[in-house]
Amino acid sequence: MKEKSNKYYMAMREANVPRAPYNIAPIFVERAHGALITDVNGKEYIDFGGGIGCQNIGHCRKEVVSAIKEQAEKSTHTCFHLAMYGAYVELAKRLNGLTPGNYPKKTFFVNSGAEAVENAVKIARYAKKRHSIIAFENAYHGRTYMAMTLTSQAMPYKRGFGPFCPEVYRLPFAYCYRCPLQMTYPDCDIRCAQLLEKLFVTSVVPDDVAAVIIEPVQGEGGFIVPPSEYLKRIQSICQKHGILFVVDEIQTGMGRTGKLFASDYCDVSPDIILTGKSIAAGLPLAGVTGKADLMDIPHVGGLGGTFSGNPIACKAALAVLDLLDEELLGKAMSLGKRLKEAFLEFQKRFEIIGDVRGLGPMVGMELVKDRKTKEPAVDETTKLIRRCCEKGLIILSCGVHRNFVRTLAPFVITDDQLERGLGILEEAFAELSTV
Ligand code: PMP
Repeated sequence: MKEKSNKYYMAMREANVPRAPYNIAPIFVERAHGALITDVNGKEYIDFGGGIGCQNIGHCRKEVVSAIKEQAEKSTHTCFHLAMYGAYVELAKRLNGLTPGNYPKKTFFVNSGAEAVENAVKIARYAKKRHSIIAFENAYHGRTYMAMTLTSQAMPYKRGFGPFCPEVYRLPFAYCYRCPLQMTYPDCDIRCAQLLEKLFVTSVVPDDVAAVIIEPVQGEGGFIVPPSEYLKRIQSICQKHGILFVVDEIQTGMGRTGKLFASDYCDVSPDIILTGKSIAAGLPLAGVTGKADLMDIPHVGGLGGTFSGNPIACKAALAVLDLLDEELLGKAMSLGKRLKEAFLEFQKRFEIIGDVRGLGPMVGMELVKDRKTKEPAVDETTKLIRRCCEKGLIILSCGVHRNFVRTLAPFVITDDQLERGLGILEEAFAELSTV
């Protein structure tokens, strides 16, 4: 076996790492730059997966790498609770200014999206002195116990891991392609938002509910974009009952939908907003930002963690925010436009594509065996993803049925890389239809 090849590492992986941490591409990375990944065998891949949405600004952007190196030479970790550093508070200030909502805010940092979700629940329960949390069908909020409980995809996230946390209630999401009420937008007048009021009758009184947590566009659930008024309707019901409105922008934030935050599309003002993934270009960092008075309610020492808000990650995030300017967001929008246009073209040719949807460059296709019955084309999706990888395109699936092909490509992808990637995808679809 060739030393340090994919095969070499794969044998080592199988012998030493459990099977549960899944792998999409059976490759080991040598290096990644922009929207290209090179494996240890020297094969190059176009990256439509962006480290599952962590590389919006592109792999190894030189400004970010310099910030990381510079900080690494000064200090790698002192623990914010023990000896503070400027990058943490500077980043908090930046996020307080950039996140939606024109009111004083405060931010603190943790290591992952799931941890940000856990902390939002802690703050909401503490502040409201209420226990219950409402989440949505198809939601994804992470793999720790509360985050996993809030997640609404049984496989692969929940199987065998129960019992889950108590006092979590669930509401159907505005999934128009598979409407929970079998209605059609806009005639439906977004009746599904009213199901929240129904939940207060059938399942939990609003006085017991601390927070509603929502993704403005459901990510892992299948890039489900609700009608633009939906979030506002949900928020106004929350306001009526004194329930906190927590927006999980871990996947949708940092420009992924073409605006800095997806909430910017729908004029909502979250009590708490969560960021992660692309915020530090792949370094482990997530932010919990909220209304200042709310964030100051938990007592001193009640929130935190050893590595939380690591200085290298904070410096990387500051560099990311400098790069995410109007120009790059404009590029993100053009990328989204081109992807959507190509996918709609594919849909005309390939029966298997039941729906094309997304917001900005957070776009993809739901694959079905039959456009009328909408039976999910699960095996075909898996086959397509695998075939793309063999041909040199890394692309991911998602969706409760795992039948959605999604793109999370870095915004810096070149036109040539983008067209080559689309070409591979088209070939893979054509092969699927001929089998
Ligand atoms: N919330 C959302 C919306 C996510 O997409 C994810 C990750 N896919 C998480 C939370 C969890 O983040 P992490 O994997 O960093 O814990």
